[in-house]
Amino acid sequence: MSTIGDNLKHVEENIQKACDRSGRRREDVTLIAVSKTKPVPDLEEALRCGTDVFGENKVQEIRDKSPVLPESVHWHMIGHLQANKVKYLIGVVDLIHSVDNDKLAEEIEKQAAKHDTVMDVLCEVNMAGEETKFGLTPEETPEFVRRISVLPHIRIRGLMTIAPYTDDPESNRVYFRGLRELKDRINAEHIPGVEMDTLSMGMTGDYEVAVEEGATFVRVGTGIFGERNYNI
Ligand SMILES: *Cc1c(COP(=O)(O)O)cnc(C)c1O
Repeated sequence: MSTIGDNLKHVEENIQKACDRSGRRREDVTLIAVSKTKPVPDLEEALRCGTDVFGENKVQEIRDKSPVLPESVHWHMIGHLQANKVKYLIGVVDLIHSVDNDKLAEEIEKQAAKHDTVMDVLCEVNMAGEETKFGLTPEETPEFVRRISVLPHIRIRGLMTIAPYTDDPESNRVYFRGLRELKDRINAEHIPGVEMDTLSMGMTGDYEVAVEEGATFVRVGTGIFGERNYNI
């Protein structure tokens, strides 16, 4: 089997074990293969090995890759998004993981309305308060959810976080648990139209801990496709 195939098998096994440890069902966790910077043949190889959910962090890469892969492929926008690029994503991606400001939410509303569709989104939360990262603070998230919940062409499915880069995945457990608790607290407010069921958390270094803490999407790049080279 190819390297990508072997890697996928390994990640799959780890997700299954994390589900077993935490009493979760495997079908409640979706693996997103994060294919940013990777060429189309790598994605085709992953597709042959059984993965059809890809995550990208640049609109341009989604625009380049999505037309040459089968229509059945699911695309997720996981990276920071500028409002002026939203128009390229509506009808193309299943889910935008990175909504963290009103201007962006309003543009998604406008473009989704134009396409007569409802766009599924997650609110990105900067759980560790890292200055280098985008996202809402946990404190401002409930009010943000309340504000954008009135936009009829947006459906808030849940929350997303990018935990700090670390060699010790256990140190991120507190952030994953915190994101789950934040989701539960917001759900308990019974905001009209808001019933969040989605937690996007966990990357190559920490996805097993994230699954144990309730992730419904894990976003794994390096662990599937190998190291990225940003210089090409
Ligand atoms: C790149 C990226 C990932 C995947 O990171 P790996 O450590 O390679 O698994 C996950 N989420 C987001 C938002 C990313 O930008």
